[in-house]
Amino acid sequence: MRDSLTPPKAANRLNKIMEAVVERFEQPRFPVDVPMLAKEAANIFKWSDPITQIEGIDIKKFEGMLFPNENKTAWKLLYNSKVTSEGRIRFTQAHELGHYILHRTLQDKFQCTEEDMRDWSSDLSNIEGQADLFASYLLMPLDDYRKHIETDVDFDQLGACAKRYGVSLTAAILKWLEHTEECAVLVVSREGFMDWAWSSKRAFKAGAFFKTRTNTIEIPDSSLAANADIAQDRSGIELPGQVWFPHADKHMTLTEMKVYSDQYDCIFTILKLPRSATVWPPWEKKEN
Ligand SMILES: [Zn+2]
Repeated sequence: MRDSLTPPKAANRLNKIMEAVVERFEQPRFPVDVPMLAKEAANIFKWSDPITQIEGIDIKKFEGMLFPNENKTAWKLLYNSKVTSEGRIRFTQAHELGHYILHRTLQDKFQCTEEDMRDWSSDLSNIEGQADLFASYLLMPLDDYRKHIETDVDFDQLGACAKRYGVSLTAAILKWLEHTEECAVLVVSREGFMDWAWSSKRAFKAGAFFKTRTNTIEIPDSSLAANADIAQDRSGIELPGQVWFPHADKHMTLTEMKVYSDQYDCIFTILKLPRSATVWPPWEKKEN
């Protein structure tokens, strides 16, 4: 039966319960009270091995952990107490709750890094991606998210969403990239180099993505991201597409937006390309 419990389905089941609780006790619907749900999850799904403890501890390297007691009758959910952002902690707790619901029969122990929290691939064999999808659907239910995101998305709108759902800006942006029809890319950079990047489905198909896991990629000189005189531009400027994508049509322009994140000490860049854009190098285009 658990095989049919996909990340969105599992999250929606908890969402229905949250909606009932909110109505009955007149509580605010958002941000979602993850510890409460984690402790209730076994009851809700009628399982006999509940999460009984949720604690912040000083765990270096990891953002969150989940493990059972010796005879597997109870589980402990831990999160990194050095993290100061409530949004990050909430996402981590939801991610670990995702492992508990979806994966606890597959593995005895879960230890998750900050990188695991943003591996939102929908590849079904990837349990980190599944836990992230679960967390995103739990904290930002799609029907509600759609009501709060308009067509002309910029950092102000995404920041307002992050606030509404009590998540980090990263999580709000990834949620948008996951569902948007736009051709858009998030680039996170430090000291002139890309740290990581994520593309919307349309951008990925258009060849607008950066392989930051395997390559060291410099931020282009004439980009807004590289401009030290402009700390941020939340709604963006228009630039030739070739600044970021050398194989873009020379007439194509894109919108580049920029904010600086104190918390991560990095620059967040959003690139919005025309929906019809393709930026593949000529030889790769032929293969597609
Ligand atoms: Zn994980």
